[in-house]
Amino acid sequence: MKFTIPTEEDIKYLNEELTKKNAQERLVWAAKTFTPGIAVSSSFQTQSVPLLHLVSQSCPEMPVIFIDTGFHFPETLAFRDMLKEKFHLNIHIIHPTITKEQLILDYGTELYRRDPDLCCYINKIEPMQRATAQYQVLVAGVRHDQTKHRNALRVIERRFSGPVRIHPIIDWSENDILQYITEHNLPAHPLTAQGYTSIGCAPCTQPTSRETTDKRAGRWTGKEKTECGLQIDFDKKQIGAGE
Ligand code: SF4
Repeated sequence: MKFTIPTEEDIKYLNEELTKKNAQERLVWAAKTFTPGIAVSSSFQTQSVPLLHLVSQSCPEMPVIFIDTGFHFPETLAFRDMLKEKFHLNIHIIHPTITKEQLILDYGTELYRRDPDLCCYINKIEPMQRATAQYQVLVAGVRHDQTKHRNALRVIERRFSGPVRIHPIIDWSENDILQYITEHNLPAHPLTAQGYTSIGCAPCTQPTSRETTDKRAGRWTGKEKTECGLQIDFDKKQIGAGE
């Protein structure tokens, strides 16, 4: 099919329709409408499991993009490989353009501590932009209850640049995730049992304190940062990295 970027008017109409559907119906519609111009991105944490399971049930051929920043927990990579086998996922692993050694030579050690936005740009955003350049639509497993920014997202969103986003589980709660995992007897990321309620790169992820209800409180703890930039319109100029 020839893809035409939807207008804001189209997006409004589609959101009215898609809001009435459940997650699986949204995914089936998206796969049917946009294949082969559609992929799904995943960080392979416990929260990712229901969407990956729905993909395996509804559209198993859909490419699943995983950005291997080089900073993931070994448990995440093992969990990814286990889910690939279990769900027969069509995973595409994408790496940053520079090695970790080159990153240190160019920017010094612990860039993630000194300038996490630049580190995320080099290791996550640029690889994702490169990986998705061939797709018109990208499916993501974000939810309203995760961050203030995500709370404002709709089922389908246009971006200033890059693919149109589709969020099949945008209106799910944490309980919906847990209920789906229980009902379908699905596995959890091994670090979840150790108190990690949201899991990204190892240097920027801690177990979540028992005193908070914010499941993402263990991400970039002590910093203003709450998003790596994959879910917002974020480019190199905005983070002062120059061109
Ligand atoms: S999450 Fe941390 S280590 Fe990973 S790319 Fe971003 S700043 Fe770097």
